[in-house]
Amino acid sequence: MGRHGTILLRMLHIERFVNELMFSNCYIVVDEVSKHCICIDAASEKAEREIAYIENNALTLDYIILTHEHTDHTWGVNAMTERFASVKVVCSEICKNNLAKEFQAYFLLYYDNPDYHYNVCRVDETTESLNERMLWQGHEIIFLPMPGHSMGSICIDVEGKLFTGDALMQSKPYINKRNGSKELFIKSVNKIIDSYPVDTMVFPGHGVMFLLKEKNI
Ligand SMILES: [Zn+2]
Repeated sequence: MGRHGTILLRMLHIERFVNELMFSNCYIVVDEVSKHCICIDAASEKAEREIAYIENNALTLDYIILTHEHTDHTWGVNAMTERFASVKVVCSEICKNNLAKEFQAYFLLYYDNPDYHYNVCRVDETTESLNERMLWQGHEIIFLPMPGHSMGSICIDVEGKLFTGDALMQSKPYINKRNGSKELFIKSVNKIIDSYPVDTMVFPGHGVMFLLKEKNI
């Protein structure tokens, strides 16, 4: 009798879209075997390209996971939850609380539009309620609290690949003094550098993928 070992198919495809507003990244992570996917940081107002990509490839969207609360990482959430009703939105507790408020700064700054209001309509799970990890289609996803850039920031570890939002970038960071902290930011970044291999692939909130060792400290 032949032995049947467990075959772990860890085929993940990562599609990157550059969002409107501040050229932030939206990632669609696809499990090529099950054709299920997750979306990290939907942030184009109508999320048209992301929705088309999911539909054209006959994918099932299971989760939208947010790296943090800033509008240039969250603006497309409502468009996607309207289209994909069964999707679950996941983010940290602080991120959730901030998302419930209306952000106007971006619309004032970039569109000079004081009348535009946007807030994310629903968050279904917080990373804290999930004990900072979950199993998705057999893939382990770990949430790493990364306060600093904003207080609700997290990094998302999908099978050892890191989706860092604005909490860890290749070069100089931007820290909003109103809802961020430089001291915490440095602590958070060092925590990642100390605990991940140098050849870890980093998918940042802005710009292209890089290896952890290519980070300019
Ligand atoms: Zn940000």
